[in-house]
Amino acid sequence: MKTFYIDYPQKKIEEHQYAYRWAECKIPTTVIFGLLENHAQDCEYRAQQRKWMQLEAHLKPHRAHFDESHINEVN
Ligand SMILES: [Zn+2]
Repeated sequence: MKTFYIDYPQKKIEEHQYAYRWAECKIPTTVIFGLLENHAQDCEYRAQQRKWMQLEAHLKPHRAHFDESHINEVN
């Protein structure tokens, strides 16, 4: 699972030369700090990532349930 989310469209903040913010929810990257939780509640990117996370968790077998006797069943 990804820990940091930095693969998003970033927008330069005009008044701050080195500051960037998310194109989606307009929150500065320095505030987001790569964490999904720091996005706005109604952020489209956050909603999309959460959807993918849920889908991934649903599709992939959980590590905690990984049993060596089933190793041949992978792929
Ligand atoms: Zn956002």
